[in-house]
Amino acid sequence: MKVPFPTPKADRCEALANQCTGRDCGEGVASQDRLHRGLSHSMTGSYGNALMEFAVIHWAEDAVPEIEFVGDGSWPSLNLEQVDELIADFDRHLQSLRAAREHMALLTDPSVHRPSAS
Ligand SMILES: [Zn+2]
Repeated sequence: MKVPFPTPKADRCEALANQCTGRDCGEGVASQDRLHRGLSHSMTGSYGNALMEFAVIHWAEDAVPEIEFVGDGSWPSLNLEQVDELIADFDRHLQSLRAAREHMALLTDPSVHRPSAS
């Protein structure tokens, strides 16, 4: 199943095929610290907040983009209703992860135009 990219939100940065949020790559950031960051995705429910967060990132001085992934170390006890909620959120989260993987592959393919890392 093909999942579309999130709606572009960057209004001043064309990195990541116009998916950069522009949050960490602005004029006040030193060139060696410049990070193009896509939209973050995470799961929040009664089982926890902002779990399994990930985003496509690209350090301006690196050759290839990466996916930044933040796990959570807690081990909550879930009831049946929470497990159903978690399964539904996993489904949505997996769709976003697949879309991010396609985005990353597109950015990694040298035959595809990539904007300059500036
Ligand atoms: Zn950027």
